[in-house]
Amino acid sequence: MGQATTDRRERRSLWLGTSWKMTKTLAEARAWVDGVAPVPVPDGVTAFVLPPLTALHVVRAVLPENSPVLVGVQNAHWAPDGAVTGEVSMHQVRDAGAAIVEIGHSERREGLGETDETVAAKVAAALEQDLVPLVCVGEPEPVRDAGEAEAYVADQVRAALSRVAPADVARVLVAYEPVWAIGENGRAATPDDVVDVLDRIGAVVAGLTDETGLRGLLYGGSVTTGNAAELLALDALDGLFVGRTAWTPEGFAALLAIAGRVVADRAGGVRDATSGTR
Ligand code: PEP
Repeated sequence: MGQATTDRRERRSLWLGTSWKMTKTLAEARAWVDGVAPVPVPDGVTAFVLPPLTALHVVRAVLPENSPVLVGVQNAHWAPDGAVTGEVSMHQVRDAGAAIVEIGHSERREGLGETDETVAAKVAAALEQDLVPLVCVGEPEPVRDAGEAEAYVADQVRAALSRVAPADVARVLVAYEPVWAIGENGRAATPDDVVDVLDRIGAVVAGLTDETGLRGLLYGGSVTTGNAAELLALDALDGLFVGRTAWTPEGFAALLAIAGRVVADRAGGVRDATSGTR
């Protein structure tokens, strides 16, 4: 293992987060937080939850003040303020306690007018407000079938980062979420399905920065307690972005425990390799 790889692994933590999409009443949101709050977040794991806007306040209020679980939102507008009916600004979500803002989920790209241009504007606006942008990218099934997944996703990443200064790329999270792998009708991706796209994202980012890379590169799409560990075993990955499996406290807790074991294994592997006992 080269020194660069060793350093990267040593300093690396894992992200484990969920978006609730358009689910959960206030009572359901409270019940999730009540279930998750006592669960220890393992060392080296950064946990986050993106409730619907209606539940942002409740989630923040019910989480213990010293909870390490970060809270964010699923969308916000790029404009600083003004006459944009039905939207909220990055400043407003920051003011309401969000630390992370999801941008460019495929459901918004497909059905709600999100484009590469609006994604780029939102990433820039999020950074201006000191929010962590979580940019979702991923190819639809016909693009994958045509063998064009890597080029398609590389274009999405380049566009999303087009208004980000090189030094700020390290403040951005990217979630690779193949559209065919997401949701009820999704087919869970295997590590073999995703590894080349992850490497291409890494290459795009390397071309934009000196050596810092992204804040993290996550995978999302039909993650379960059955496939989380094998996905997290991919060296290119810094975490998982999860829908359905994490919508129960038990599911989220189980995924946290898996992520914690992977972090511990990685640290142990580095120590063994460094001391030559492997
Ligand atoms: C998603 O929609 O971004 C997602 C990852 O959902 P799921 O885990 O339910 O496939």
